Amino acid sequence: MERSSGPRPTRFYTRDGNPTVARAAQVVAALEGSEAALLFSSGVAATTTALLTLLKAGDHVICQDQVYAGTQAFLNTVMRDFGVDATFVDQRYPEAFEQAMTPRTRLFLLETPCHPLMRVTDLRAVSEIAHERGALTMVDNTTASPVNQRPLEFGVDLVMHSATKFLGGHSDLLAGALAGDTHLIDRIWKRSKMIGAVMSPHDAWLLLRGMRTVALRVQRHNENGLRVAQALETHRAVEHVYYPGLQSHPQHALAARQMGLRRFRRAPSIGAVESLAIHPFAMWRNTLSADELQRRGVSPGLVRLSLGIDAGEDIVADVTGSLDAL
Ligand code: PLP
Repeated sequence: MERSSGPRPTRFYTRDGNPTVARAAQVVAALEGSEAALLFSSGVAATTTALLTLLKAGDHVICQDQVYAGTQAFLNTVMRDFGVDATFVDQRYPEAFEQAMTPRTRLFLLETPCHPLMRVTDLRAVSEIAHERGALTMVDNTTASPVNQRPLEFGVDLVMHSATKFLGGHSDLLAGALAGDTHLIDRIWKRSKMIGAVMSPHDAWLLLRGMRTVALRVQRHNENGLRVAQALETHRAVEHVYYPGLQSHPQHALAARQMGLRRFRRAPSIGAVESLAIHPFAMWRNTLSADELQRRGVSPGLVRLSLGIDAGEDIVADVTGSLDAL
């Protein structure tokens, strides 16, 4: 049966499609808010399969100068051998990406925050620069996890994960993921079948189990991270702490905006485990008269919150953090 074009099968020869792997991909897509996702045998396999799909000889890629070492090595060896040039820029300055652009630039390769200095990339600003000139953006979201940051909401085209880390969460599997629009994921899927570094059903099963607790685990990681960063910041033996959650981090405001806990979803309901917020004025101004809005006490500044089961201090921090940003 010819299966190299058309919709991806969820049940076929396992390199093409498998029900357990397809289910795990659906969960990754739900976490990232994407149309589709594709799973791989490692994070490196996700990155390299994407690069081998999106780039060809003569193309140019702009990559951050601080990025996962394996990504940089792949660009400097395999991609270079295949005729793809890379320029490395300081991710803190969106204008650095703009200045590095050439008529051959097809892709920006991003990672935020990235190790070891926890530098943050302004995903929206950088994606706008790429899109103005017809280039795509791909971001390694491993360190943030989709619990803290959903890059597609900031205009990024493709999200990559080493699912070996927070998504799996138990140090018992090696896995990778890509999330994005269906047309892009389908394009990469066609190459992934040829390259062959796909996820096994057993790893997909482990990943599914891991992802059930990703929200709880990452909340605890965040709490512990901030607590330790604060303790170290005032310790006399420590010169500097690199943690975007600290007010002293030079890009704290950007991190708060882009990675803000955003525990609240905009949804007109109450009584759920999630925290929900609505803006009644925006919701009703087209259906209720000004008199009626006033009678109900619905002013433009009113926000209604329904609190979920997140840790109380996180909810307070989320609310006051949003107010502080006004
Ligand atoms: N991206 C980041 C940020 C990583 O930390 C790693 C692994 O350490 C990778 C990608 C590569 O992922 P994997 O080890 O699953 O191939």
